[in-house]
Amino acid sequence: MAYTDTKPGERLQITFTHAMPYEWSVGLYGSKFFKEIKENGRFVGIRCPDCGKVYVPPRRVCGPCFKELTELVPLSDTGVITAFSIVNYPFIDPNTGSQRPIPYTYGYIRLDGADSIFSHIINETDLSKIKVGMRVRAVFKDKKDMQGNIQDILHFEIIG
Ligand SMILES: [Zn+2]
Repeated sequence: MAYTDTKPGERLQITFTHAMPYEWSVGLYGSKFFKEIKENGRFVGIRCPDCGKVYVPPRRVCGPCFKELTELVPLSDTGVITAFSIVNYPFIDPNTGSQRPIPYTYGYIRLDGADSIFSHIINETDLSKIKVGMRVRAVFKDKKDMQGNIQDILHFEIIG
């Protein structure tokens, strides 16, 4: 039996909401990264023994040197905006399952003492008030509300 004679508008469609909860491991250093934020309200990076670069969040291997990384180093909660985008397109935030109110600003930040960039929300959406090179500081949730994930960082705020 062939269905090729059925026109597209005549085909049945079934609409439903499909919940798909899941969890995954953030790994050894990802766990240390989020635990340090939750317990001490600070960032931790990792230093390469060969080139000296500090990566945040910490990773297992330095790509250019191909060396295993083991030296965790505390980092400042301040840094510099290296790039940003003011988002005006609504979408479902995978971290919350809800639509993030627009506009919002997503930025790349180089934390003081780090050589890699870190991405997160910046709480400024006025294009005339935000520029690459501005200094920012992380704003964390209240310690009692922290859960050990990226949402423990509420956003970064401009400090100068
Ligand atoms: Zn290296």
